[in-house]
Amino acid sequence: MSSSIRRWVETDTGHRVPNHKSKCRHFHGHRYRWEAELEGEVVQEEGVSEEGMLIDFGDVSSILEEHIHDVVDHAFVVYERDEEAIEVLSGLSSDHRTVVVPFIPTAENLAKWAFEQVSPHIYSSYGNKLRLSAMHVRETPKSWASWHPPTQ
Ligand SMILES: [Zn+2]
Repeated sequence: MSSSIRRWVETDTGHRVPNHKSKCRHFHGHRYRWEAELEGEVVQEEGVSEEGMLIDFGDVSSILEEHIHDVVDHAFVVYERDEEAIEVLSGLSSDHRTVVVPFIPTAENLAKWAFEQVSPHIYSSYGNKLRLSAMHVRETPKSWASWHPPTQ
């Protein structure tokens, strides 16, 4: 029997979709929500802090803060081959937070990126098969994308 939990963090992050047919090619930003979904078995070990949980929500939050929030909050995410945008951003002061990525920063691609940021940090010492099962990224209140790793 497996259970799942979700925890999210939000950031204010800029991007653009350089080839987009309409307004998404302009520099703009979103209040992104990055939601981690974890699966595993509830810890049965008596007397430990995690008894009855998959993992402490606070521990998931700390991982999301460090590996998502602190990387892209109040930052501009730019595709490494978006030369026009790279040129503009490189003219800003050196403390401007620019995150260059090897993909067009759509919600779909950002969900996969976020999964790869977070997944290595999700583990448990209780043998409860804890794993990150998906990352969900909300770009607008009506628009979400999810990344699920391929099943092995
Ligand atoms: Zn956008």
